[in-house]
Amino acid sequence: MSKEKLRIIPLGGLGEVGKNMMVYEYGENILIVDVGLMFPENDMLGIDYIIPDFQYLKDKRHWVRGIIVTHGHEDHTGAIHHLLELIQAPIFATPLTRGLLEAKLSRGGLLSHVQLNTVHAGEAIKIGPFQVEFFHVCHSIPDGVGLGITTPAGLVVHSGDYKFDHTPIDNWPTDYAKLAEFASRGVLALLADSTNSYRSGWTPSERVIDPAFDDVFRSAPGRIIIASFASLISRMQQVGNAAHKHHRKLAFAGTSMVENAKIARKLNYLEFPEDLVVSIEQALKMKNADVVLMCTGTQGEPTSIMGRLSMGTNRQFDILPDDTVVLSSHPIPGNEESVYRTINRLFRRGADVIYEAIAPVHVSGHASQEEMKLLMHLVKPQFFIPIHGELHQLHQHANIARKLGIPNDHVSIVENGQVIEFIGEQMLHGERVPGGYIFVDGAGVGDIGPSVVREREALARDGIFLVNLNLDNNSLTLCVEPEIITKGFIYTRNGDDLLVSARKLIIETIRNGNGNLQQDLEQALKTFLYNKTRRRPMVFVSINRK
Ligand SMILES: [Zn+2]
Ligand SMILES: [Zn+2]
Repeated sequence: MSKEKLRIIPLGGLGEVGKNMMVYEYGENILIVDVGLMFPENDMLGIDYIIPDFQYLKDKRHWVRGIIVTHGHEDHTGAIHHLLELIQAPIFATPLTRGLLEAKLSRGGLLSHVQLNTVHAGEAIKIGPFQVEFFHVCHSIPDGVGLGITTPAGLVVHSGDYKFDHTPIDNWPTDYAKLAEFASRGVLALLADSTNSYRSGWTPSERVIDPAFDDVFRSAPGRIIIASFASLISRMQQVGNAAHKHHRKLAFAGTSMVENAKIARKLNYLEFPEDLVVSIEQALKMKNADVVLMCTGTQGEPTSIMGRLSMGTNRQFDILPDDTVVLSSHPIPGNEESVYRTINRLFRRGADVIYEAIAPVHVSGHASQEEMKLLMHLVKPQFFIPIHGELHQLHQHANIARKLGIPNDHVSIVENGQVIEFIGEQMLHGERVPGGYIFVDGAGVGDIGPSVVREREALARDGIFLVNLNLDNNSLTLCVEPEIITKGFIYTRNGDDLLVSARKLIIETIRNGNGNLQQDLEQALKTFLYNKTRRRPMVFVSINRK
């Protein structure tokens, strides 16, 4: 038996939803699966997005034999250009995923340096010591794949994002036969998507949306505006089908939507009649009842088209009283508040709004509990590792595995950075490696820490409290009264009292001061302001010594 061991190193997506990235390592060989990004939670202000921490790979970059991207969603592809700055390795993806990657990489001027390889579901390729078989999975974007990775230590099945849709929009179901065939060879470990592990039953087929769209299209008096994710290509097809049936023209609004639709059409993943799609400019000149517009902004993001429409700040067009707006999406946890705020604003502008809670205009692209069970029964793994999900989702998924008879010590719930090792027929926990957040803010990567985020958060929520002091350097006394400036800090009615007390506090603190005066003052003021107002503005003290 070989002394080498198979190591599985999760760098993203375990313990969170987003920035999925898995490293498979055998000897001095590494295979990377997915390099995604995560969009910040509402409390991470000013951050564009978050990427995995690549530190573990830094001194192993020459071990990397290949990078596989399972499908075209941002939480699987979005950080790849950052990884390519560190590592040069061939990338493998199916045609649509490749098309979307090409567009992304060419925007960054990276395309000419990258070795992009097209693979198809059903194919097998050798990447270092890893024999990788790509099998088709249904999801909310076409051309997704899962992986059967044969390593010297055994066969590992990596599900990618999947669901078992028997009637998918592209008529291409998940490859059940391949999964069963893996089982006949013996599967060492299954790593499977946990996103919906708390949902009982089956995820409905994408088809259930068709009748709901039909209803909307039949009764809408004016324009129809449908918001969705730019990467939900199958939803574009469904909107196109409904538009064709009800004699409306379809226009896409927004760069990412227009670009993705163009790529998917070119590669034949979207089939529209020749004259169905018109430009947004054309659509806006047509009769309202003759058009349907598709745009982004289902999460209440204020800068998206739907966000701007709801606030009346969109440049190209506004909401009209006869509009029917459809939010074809599910609010990402944490976004519910802003989604409903957007819905309220749209109603206020006179639109009729249809959303998931009142009509089946969205279904999930991820497996529910019964599908998870089916996957485990088909694959029959010895070991199980839940992936893609927050800790509660990973735990629910592990519970399902145990219920199906996988022994407790054959199930590993780990978060990013916890190495798992397979030695012989044993699964062990290895060392911990960095697996945290890297914030990307504009052009800068990693130069913005959590403290900056906290400051921005405080600024946005409670404003700022500025104190300007002129001290006599010899006597350490104030030359003039402390100057206090506040911005965005609300202290209403007895506000004047508050400032008087704050000044007193400042003078006292200076009198008793020893050590770091600025720090002491800021600390004292923070405590004082919180006790008086239950608010935590950013406090900043500047001291001029004369
Ligand atoms: Zn996905
Ligand atoms: Zn995903």
